[in-house]
Amino acid sequence: MNPSKNIAVCLSFDFDGISVWSGSFRTRSPSTLSRGEFGKVGTARILDLLDRYRLPASWFIPGHTAETYPDSVRRIADAGHELGHHGYCHENPRSLSADQERDILERGIACLQRVTGKAPIGYRSPAADVSPVTHSLLLEYGFVYDSSMMADDFTPYYCRVGDEMRTDAPYVFGQEIDVLELPLDWSLDDWPYFNLHWPANHVGLRTPDEVYQIWAADFDFLYDRIGQGVYTLTMHPQVIGRGHRLLMLERLIDYFQGHDGVAFKTMGQVATEWKQAHPLRGGSDA
Ligand SMILES: [Zn+2]
Repeated sequence: MNPSKNIAVCLSFDFDGISVWSGSFRTRSPSTLSRGEFGKVGTARILDLLDRYRLPASWFIPGHTAETYPDSVRRIADAGHELGHHGYCHENPRSLSADQERDILERGIACLQRVTGKAPIGYRSPAADVSPVTHSLLLEYGFVYDSSMMADDFTPYYCRVGDEMRTDAPYVFGQEIDVLELPLDWSLDDWPYFNLHWPANHVGLRTPDEVYQIWAADFDFLYDRIGQGVYTLTMHPQVIGRGHRLLMLERLIDYFQGHDGVAFKTMGQVATEWKQAHPLRGGSDA
């Protein structure tokens, strides 16, 4: 064992299914919607992989997916993985009124509660975007953590409310609240590397080796230069679930497991442990 190393690896899967295409991209093309249907196939493969490696994972699941694919979501829950909130039909909170955002938050909670019997403690915004009231709502509804922001990479931090952005004065940082941020980043997300979008000018379809290099190098930096922290990968069953990409993920898991002081955890576990070790001081819990 290497006592100077303490790394948590969080494998997270956003099971968007059809909702990302119908909700975020507003398509009604059966062919495009079928890209989301592949999420069911990818989910089954990922669950097999996690079972083989005996690894926990965090799954962010829109209510729409939970209701469209109840058997798949039941299998995720029965395997002991964490279920987190991801909207109802992949809505961007900034496109909603405060009342709409509250309604969707409640609906998404209810959908997951019907599967697990308890409310989710983690939230990831669809499209990694938040409105001015998102974090206040998460606090009000008892969420332990959010994973939508990018102000750090390997170190959790507390969310804030009341930030003020002006272009004629310095940025004003608001008050910290008792909702922990487990940051993500597009560079540690499979979607922008692999997904082909057209006619929009986004090619995707990168080789797994390219992405392996980037993801492994970020892990190397955390492990070698920092030594302590949380490494979070954001993946989508309809993206990472393709064969050549899943083989890359297996190689990456093997690589992580070859290091002392590395533990795979759910994001809920990481957030709970981190908050106990670093309680909020001087912030607002109301
Ligand atoms: Zn999503």
